[in-house]
Amino acid sequence: MVSLSWQRCRAILGASLPNRCLLCHQTIAAPHRGVCPTCVANSIYQSEVCLGCGKPLTIAAEYCGSCLHHRPIKVVAPASYHSMLGPLIPAIKYQAQFAALPALTAALVARIQHLVAAELLELPQVVLPVPLHRQRLAHRGYNQAWLIANTLAAQLQLPLDDKLLARTSNTPAQAQLTGKQRRQNLSGAFALTRASPYQRIALVDDVVTTGSTVNEIARLLRTSAPSIQVWCLARAEAPKIATL
Ligand SMILES: [Zn+2]
Ligand SMILES: [Zn+2]
Repeated sequence: MVSLSWQRCRAILGASLPNRCLLCHQTIAAPHRGVCPTCVANSIYQSEVCLGCGKPLTIAAEYCGSCLHHRPIKVVAPASYHSMLGPLIPAIKYQAQFAALPALTAALVARIQHLVAAELLELPQVVLPVPLHRQRLAHRGYNQAWLIANTLAAQLQLPLDDKLLARTSNTPAQAQLTGKQRRQNLSGAFALTRASPYQRIALVDDVVTTGSTVNEIARLLRTSAPSIQVWCLARAEAPKIATL
């Protein structure tokens, strides 16, 4: 009897499946996978956006006029959560459908590099994935934020620290909760395992919608990190992100 490793099975299965775009169903030419370059190009931001609230800007700037006063934590994403790419992210998170992950992560890398080149963003010292509680991790088998952070760290040549932050309570999934319930749900849900040695941090999550997770973790890091930014695959407009 021939026994195949899991990796080999996956390679055979992957090769046997038609390589079609998850959004437009057109055939995708290698090396692209999951989402075709046309759908990515049509779904990502078509202009500069405010790094605070995500609203479109007519000129390249860090913040719009209203965010400029309180300078909230910068949230970098290649696309709005309400774009065609948005629904692909829960599929990564809850159904282990990773086909779109390389294209979305590549779009995020391109966005970060664009902002750095335009001097609207400074690269951090370290990337920190938003942690999952160990029971949730054991159940799901992977942390989607870690997968994204690991790719970003490799491509941008930055260290990744997945030990500093810990999730101390196994809170219910955020997706079905209101903004107020999310804040209550996450209150005290994270902890630092040691004093943070970093001054410039990029926190990595799959999406930023209400900003509750970002705010809860920023509260822990506030005393040690004068600079926190958030990197995610997609963001909602006008989350209530705190000022650092
Ligand atoms: Zn497509
Ligand atoms: Zn704004």
